[in-house]
Amino acid sequence: MLLGAHVSIAGSIASAPQRGGDMGCDAIQIFTKNQRQWKVKEIGAEEAESFKKNLSKFGIESTVAHASYLINLGSGKEELYKKSLESFTKEGKRCDILGIAYLVFHPGTNEDERKGIKNISNALNRAVGNTKTIFLLETTAGQGSSIGYKLDQLASIIDRVEDKKRIGICLDTCHMYSAGYDIKRNYEKVVESIEDNIGMERVKVIHLNDSKNSLGSRIDRHEHIGKGSLGIESFRTLVNDKRWANLPGILETPGGEEDYRRNLEILKGLRVEK
Ligand code: ZN
Ligand code: ZN
Ligand code: ZN
Repeated sequence: MLLGAHVSIAGSIASAPQRGGDMGCDAIQIFTKNQRQWKVKEIGAEEAESFKKNLSKFGIESTVAHASYLINLGSGKEELYKKSLESFTKEGKRCDILGIAYLVFHPGTNEDERKGIKNISNALNRAVGNTKTIFLLETTAGQGSSIGYKLDQLASIIDRVEDKKRIGICLDTCHMYSAGYDIKRNYEKVVESIEDNIGMERVKVIHLNDSKNSLGSRIDRHEHIGKGSLGIESFRTLVNDKRWANLPGILETPGGEEDYRRNLEILKGLRVEK
């Protein structure tokens, strides 16, 4: 696994690769914009060039983007849905400019699961035509009315997307455990269920987070590696699983750069083959 962390773009997007390199990342995840705001500043050609140059300069082998949390492609509220789709497509285009292949996003929320799934897949069909990005549905913890905490929900979304090459999955270990997938005690069964519902080839990114809450709690609270309910052995299994060998494994644990550095060292220490 190419290990890394979510890295800040404070100052400039072009500063993220060095920040990641300094932490010891082989892979990084970034927001391509301030994720708490709808409005967005265009990416200049110079900024994009220097971002790409810095990736190779600081040894980052894999980069993924994470979409803004404001976006809700599941929403039944017309105005929010429209705004979400517009912003989502724009983020896809930003990834194209930056040369980032994958945009991870939370599928969305809707009290009516069926309607939510329909809205999300319609949005994907629209966005796919306007960008080159591969959109990655992230597994969610299932808090509130969020969709995507069951693999078969993600499968139903993919099923309705016409250009399936453009859709993949991002597994989040904290979310999956909180959603009731027992990575800790029943790892192989969970992998089998990914294989059966989605297909292994569709998994492109893994978020490596321990969880503050118990199996099936459906609460989304990340914890430092080895300090939560998943525990250190779960991560030993994950980082050494050859099926994920070429995938980026991204930390989204609490705290700042120091905490990421420490968590990253813990993960690297778990590798059998260094
Ligand atoms: Zn996420
Ligand atoms: Zn995540
Ligand atoms: Zn989370």
